Amino acid sequence: MPDDPNFSSLFDLLPIGAYRSSLSGRQLRANPELVRLNGYATEAEMLASVADIGAEWYCNPSRRAEFANLLQAQGRVVDFVSEIYRHKTRERIWVREHAHLVRDAGGQVLYFEGTVQDISLDVKTWQELQASESRFRAMTELSTDWYWELDTNFRFVRLDIGNHSAIVGVSQQVLGKTRQELGLIELSPAQWVSYQTLLDARQVFHDFEFPIRAANGKLLWHAISGEPMFSVAGEFTGFRGIGRDVSARKQSEALIRQMAFHDPLTGLANRRLFMDRLELCLAGLARTGQRGVLMFLDLDKFKLLNDQQGHSTGDLLLQQVAQRLKACVRGVDTVARLGGDEFTILLEDVGTDDRLAARHAKVVADKVLQSVQLPFALGAIDVSCGYQGSASLGVVVLNDAKSNADHCLNRADAAMYQAKAAGRNRVYFEPLL
Ligand code: GH3
Ligand code: MG
Repeated sequence: MPDDPNFSSLFDLLPIGAYRSSLSGRQLRANPELVRLNGYATEAEMLASVADIGAEWYCNPSRRAEFANLLQAQGRVVDFVSEIYRHKTRERIWVREHAHLVRDAGGQVLYFEGTVQDISLDVKTWQELQASESRFRAMTELSTDWYWELDTNFRFVRLDIGNHSAIVGVSQQVLGKTRQELGLIELSPAQWVSYQTLLDARQVFHDFEFPIRAANGKLLWHAISGEPMFSVAGEFTGFRGIGRDVSARKQSEALIRQMAFHDPLTGLANRRLFMDRLELCLAGLARTGQRGVLMFLDLDKFKLLNDQQGHSTGDLLLQQVAQRLKACVRGVDTVARLGGDEFTILLEDVGTDDRLAARHAKVVADKVLQSVQLPFALGAIDVSCGYQGSASLGVVVLNDAKSNADHCLNRADAAMYQAKAAGRNRVYFEPLL
């Protein structure tokens, strides 16, 4: 290896610019990379063209003084980043500089030398990253969605909630925790398994919905969509996705369901829901051997109350009758208002034998009859004596898996008419075959 005390090969081959300058700013030496960086072909051409590099170089002229002051005060300059002109072409580029003063044995400053690295590409990448990040921020702030990221163990590493005040306060608590660990999401064990299965599959998923308790105690519904993330090497690095508050849609869906299957006046099941339950009950008869009981109730002389006290008093009675009927049966049984002053009751699982079912039916029917005979407090009607009502009740034991719901309802209706015909305020049991 040739003896090279001045490191001249390093100076010549260095992939970044290097120079030596007089204190006044006159360049004494420039390596090939610095010559190229400044747009020149040779060192001689460059040194001949440059008068005072500092004054001619920086896009912001005050950078020259800053550089000189640092050099003066500390004897060196480290990581000095500026936008400069490529000397020959005046094209703007970004550079990072290091420099130091060189002194003689007596401490007298001889010159300074340093390096210049073209970092235009890094700056451009950084600027693009900044722009992309600010676009992303604008999107999460303006959008009704929010952004989330999970690590490989499905713990939150990021949650950008924008302006979603309902989950403000939650965002800080979530970092480092899985959704299961938050204790805010109200899913059943089976639903949690579905969620975990989605993540374990490491595939894109859409609109997984769950109820979540907000900081103010309100129950909200969130829908999340996500995609797995992979490193350049193809390793799984976690999940990212968006979340959305779907509470309003969930509420209106619940309202529509309620309206579609319930009677608006009493809140009881309506005819559609009742017939559905009746059909299911009939379908189950053969499978379980369990009998059911169908009751058809019609208020006696209800028209009279309407005529004498007005329709709204009639409505009050219908609402109170509904409450009393519900109180006569178990939670699994169904009470419905078919319309007008007609109510139906379906008792399920009343035993595997007709007599047992009939006995059960009698107990409930008597209870129903008695409960509508008790006085009702109805607005204008004197509360002390109350309104004395009654009802006629037809009862059918469901024991034939082959009969359909309409037919059963007709039989119960016919039984009810037998009770009316026999003088009202009574129960008629369809005879067992
Ligand atoms: P019956 O003993 O024969 O059953 O006599 P009734 O007067 O009860 O006669 P019916 O059952 O045929 O009449 C039911 C009445 O219920 C007819 C209608 O004016 C009234 N009605 C129907 N829907 C409503 C309602 O939503 N609110 C009120 N207040 N009355 C209603
Ligand atoms: Mg009636």
